[in-house]
Amino acid sequence: MRLLVVEDDKNLREQLASALGDAGYTVDTADNGEDGQFLGETEPYDLAILDLGLPKVDGLSVLKAWRKEGRTMPVLILSARDRWSEKVEGLDLGANDYVTKPFHMAELLARVRANVRRTTDHQSAVLEVGDLRLNAATGQVTVNGAPVKLTAYQYKVLDYLMHHAGRIVSRAELTERSTAKITSATRTRSKCSSAFCAVRSAPIASSRKKVLATD
Ligand code: CA
Repeated sequence: MRLLVVEDDKNLREQLASALGDAGYTVDTADNGEDGQFLGETEPYDLAILDLGLPKVDGLSVLKAWRKEGRTMPVLILSARDRWSEKVEGLDLGANDYVTKPFHMAELLARVRANVRRTTDHQSAVLEVGDLRLNAATGQVTVNGAPVKLTAYQYKVLDYLMHHAGRIVSRAELTERSTAKITSATRTRSKCSSAFCAVRSAPIASSRKKVLATD
C-alpha cells in the first residue's frame, strides 16, 4: 500500500511519515501543494493525506485538480478545528474523510485503514470481463450496460468463471468450487432462459479467451 502525505508542517509531516511507515505503508511526502498535486496526478497511490493550508497551491485546489484528472484514490483531509466550511467544501469536492488538527495518531491510522479497506472492498466487489460486469455488492449483472436477470445458480457459476477469467475451468472444478450441481447445469442448458443465453453466448463468445467452461 502506497500513501501520499501532503503537509507543509515539517514536524507533523515527519511524524505522519514515520507512523504510517511503522504501520507498514510505503509513504511519499510533499511539503507544498504544487509538488503534492504533481505526485497525486502521476503516481498510483492507495490513499492521500492532504493538508488544506499549503504553500504554492492550497489543499482544496489540489483535491479539485486530482478529481478533475480522474484520480480516484481516497483523500483524507487534515483541517484546522475552526475551518468547518473548508471541511464541507472538501467533502463536496470529493474528499472521503477528514481529521481535525490536533489529532491522535491512533485515530488517523484507524481512519486510513478504514478508507483503504472501503476502497479495496469496493474494487473487489466489481468484476468485469469483456462486456460482462458483475457487482457482488448489489448482485447486479449487466451485459453492455444492460441488466441481466439470473437465477441464484446461474449467478454463482458466472461469478466463479469471472473470478477465474483467463483460464480453463473444468466441469468438476465448477461443481466442486461453485457449489453447482451438474444435473442443474444440464437442466439450465436445456432450459436456458433468454437472459442467461445472452450472457452465455454474446459476451462469452466475444471474450472466449477470458471466460471458458469445459467438461
Ligand atoms: Ca499547513
